[in-house]
Amino acid sequence: MRDVFIPGVNIGLVGHVDHGKTTLVSALTGTWTDRHSEEIKRGISIRLGYADATFYRCEKCKGNDAYTTSAECPNCGGKAVPLRTVSFVDAPGHETLMATMLSGSALMDGAMLVIAANESCPQPQTKEHLMALELIGINRIVIVQNKIDVVTQAEALEHYKQIKRFIKGTIAENAPIIPVSAQKGVNIGALIQALDEVIPEPERNPDLDPLLLIARSFDINRPGCNWRDVKGGVIGGSLIRGVLREGDEIEIRPGRQLQVENRTKWEPITTKITSINAGMISVTEATPGGLLGIATKLDPALTKSDALAGQVAGLVGRLPPVRERLKFDVTLMDRVVGADSEQIIEPLKHKEPLMLAVGTAVTVGVITNTRKNQVEVQLKRAVCAEAGARIAISRQVGGRWRLIGMGVLVE
Ligand code: GDP
Ligand code: MG
Repeated sequence: MRDVFIPGVNIGLVGHVDHGKTTLVSALTGTWTDRHSEEIKRGISIRLGYADATFYRCEKCKGNDAYTTSAECPNCGGKAVPLRTVSFVDAPGHETLMATMLSGSALMDGAMLVIAANESCPQPQTKEHLMALELIGINRIVIVQNKIDVVTQAEALEHYKQIKRFIKGTIAENAPIIPVSAQKGVNIGALIQALDEVIPEPERNPDLDPLLLIARSFDINRPGCNWRDVKGGVIGGSLIRGVLREGDEIEIRPGRQLQVENRTKWEPITTKITSINAGMISVTEATPGGLLGIATKLDPALTKSDALAGQVAGLVGRLPPVRERLKFDVTLMDRVVGADSEQIIEPLKHKEPLMLAVGTAVTVGVITNTRKNQVEVQLKRAVCAEAGARIAISRQVGGRWRLIGMGVLVE
């Protein structure tokens, strides 16, 4: 049995900017995920933030009131029993940050779609993010109707009806809608209960070759520290399958970009895992689900400032191929969502630039070949991906990258 305090799933937060995603993570975990000074200045989540929470159930209380994220029941003060631990991936809602949202969605086992009750529903990124969940195939969804403290009961009911109309016919059609106030901590128990029911830990096969999607990478040393104390580079992300252990020799792909006779080449990086953190716990073995911090022997210059975000890690020689060209089957949506005017989506064109999200990698490329529902794209930055991988496709519309459809990698 897995330790209940080690996170077993990633739950994403998606939705329009300012609807309360970061406040909700804070209400659930006590952690404010907007850590970068630039984010705090601009008040929006730029990079993916993450934080863990353990779900508890009080032995005496009944219904929603029994669910909490603390060892002491806030309702009766009695003892609450830990059920399991989850990681939250806080995606930015701002429309220019769709690429980051897409790279984060590769890690999500399920998602909360946060919708503020004091604005009409849907707002542009409410729509665009639900579309992204649909394209990526994330169907375990809980809808959070937030900010109920600033609307009347009649307004909340009208807004609830708007949500119902909006989700009809979508992947979220049967998702529970939980009214909360993230800021005032109202009805959080009901939300935890819904998350516990809707987003269970998936079955995992520990015998498959491990595949870690890297979402962040860090240099954890303080500037000017003594070279003897320098700690190796740290990568953060999620295992989507298999097991990684302390001491494992790992490979990171595509790796380092080299210039060889005017050509760009990618050279995989190999290193050794020195320690692993799962949630707040140091472990010797990491399994899928939840977010991991993996310390390595890498030169921290290689990992600083998310330099390895979008790459993948696994055992040496056991990773999917590195590709500078992608060939994929395409399904386009009918209309662009997330913009003020919803234009019709025209077919893909030869030489057209696209932004592609594959796993946690987001890369730009140009179409070199189109055939019926299949295209080939020459990438600016290579990606490591296996046949069958899902690709979220965006194109430039009105000067912005807009999500227009999805692809499935062939070969
Ligand atoms: P995000 O962009 O979705 O991450 O939104 P934030 O969590 O940053 O919240 C945006 C603003 O809404 C902040 O000023 C929050 O204090 C406020 N806010 C968030 N949740 C609530 C709520 O439940 N009630 C009220 N009244 N304000 C909230
Ligand atoms: Mg935020």
